[in-house]
Amino acid sequence: MTVHFPFQNSYAALPDNFFARVAPTPVAAPRLVKLNRPLAVELGLDPVQLETPEGAEILAGKTVPVGADPIAMAYAGHQFGNFVPQLGDGRAILLGEVIDRNGVRRDIQLKGSGPTPFSRRGDGRAALGPVLREYIVSEAMHALGIPTTRSLAAVITGEQVYRETAVPGAVLTRVATSHIRVGTFQYFAARRDTEAVRRLADHVIARHYPELVGIERPYHALLAAVIGRQAALVARWLDIGFIHGVMNTDNTSVSGETIDYGPCAFMDAYDPATVFSSIDEMGRYAFANQPRIALWNLTRLAECLLPLFSDDQPQAIKDAEAALDGFAEAFTTAYQTGLRRKLGLFTAHDDDPALAQALLEAMASGPADFTLTFRRLGEAAADGNDAQVRALFQDPTGLDEWMPRWRQRLAQEPQTAAERRTAMHAVNPAFIPRNHRIEAVISAAINNDFGPFEELLTVLANPYQDQPAHVAYAEPPQPQERVLQTFCGT
Ligand code: AMP
Ligand code: MG
Repeated sequence: MTVHFPFQNSYAALPDNFFARVAPTPVAAPRLVKLNRPLAVELGLDPVQLETPEGAEILAGKTVPVGADPIAMAYAGHQFGNFVPQLGDGRAILLGEVIDRNGVRRDIQLKGSGPTPFSRRGDGRAALGPVLREYIVSEAMHALGIPTTRSLAAVITGEQVYRETAVPGAVLTRVATSHIRVGTFQYFAARRDTEAVRRLADHVIARHYPELVGIERPYHALLAAVIGRQAALVARWLDIGFIHGVMNTDNTSVSGETIDYGPCAFMDAYDPATVFSSIDEMGRYAFANQPRIALWNLTRLAECLLPLFSDDQPQAIKDAEAALDGFAEAFTTAYQTGLRRKLGLFTAHDDDPALAQALLEAMASGPADFTLTFRRLGEAAADGNDAQVRALFQDPTGLDEWMPRWRQRLAQEPQTAAERRTAMHAVNPAFIPRNHRIEAVISAAINNDFGPFEELLTVLANPYQDQPAHVAYAEPPQPQERVLQTFCGT
């Protein structure tokens, strides 16, 4: 049996300087540890074929499937504010693109499949822990309804990779609407290759913003559209308690999907200054900084597009600034709308943002768990009992002042308690991929026990449903379980 991929590759048809043609490096003994069957079906792939030994070899990069045109994409990027003119896929190889069941073009990429011309000093490989982390968190984000790259499969390579110690090597099959980043534009802009920037912009418009094809000033509209999607995305992150951890421009997708799950994490107790990443010493990518950083990254994209706007540079800059000015409003609207829903409000009042802010402050000074506070407010809205929410706060003083304000505001709306509870539960998850759970899953998997990984995935697939059999997964970590640092996915 041959595993069939209905590839229709478009990026590999772009000029040669957009990528390096390179095949994955074969590995010793690939073993499939997880296949995302529903995603396979959505992509028009046969899960039964992918689960055969040949399927595992393809997903490990040992065999290149028919129709693939493997490439490592070129890109640059600002890492922690410093420009690196050449990064590129150092340990990822794009096998090709398929058109999914909804007619959407999707990249199928192997991450950890061996060195490429962009590897620099890296080994081109990935360790099992970060592969499982990305699998869990990206699929959880999808189930939460947040735009994200997906995970199709995880395989163990049968080889060791060397990090602090020898650890099992693994390959993740990542699926994205594309892997084009702000850093991809920067790669060509840094080389003053305006024709390549134009070519890339046309490709991105056709692929991600087809409504802009043929309009007047398409590149202006492209910038505005990317700004809109990033603003909406970061608002979702803040409303759900997600910290990306490495918001470098090379980790910022122009499609508006969350990409590159390295030291990312969800907050337990609410603290806007939360940083997990071990390498983020200055807190550049702290939770509450994310909107500001997104705007900074979008400003870098705008700089790349200036030559396409106009030959009159001052005018081009003015246009770019006007577009960037739109970020704040787009973000604030999306963020405040999200918060209002989280509070169970069906209409908008001028002082709702202040009401939401007061709750966040009460949580910060509590401290109190971000996710559970909102979830239990849904119950409190329905049964009028504050005890369960209160129990989450070490010091409930702030909450006690806040609850009457909130109830007063709720009383101004006609919805029933049951309607409110349903609406709140639909946006306030019970289950998020908590760090201590991920770490426990990884430890078990390294000892070849994938049971906890499977169970965690099952729970996270329905984050907004009460799952009485799995209540323990909703709980924040005990003090001794708390994970204070996460590490890059290298
Ligand atoms: P990241 O921190 O994963 O966004 O990666 C930043 C850059 O480092 C990208 O160009 C990656 O391809 C490259 N990189 C990360 N890890 C490795 C590795 N193990 N081998 C080669 N390149 C790597
Ligand atoms: Mg990256």
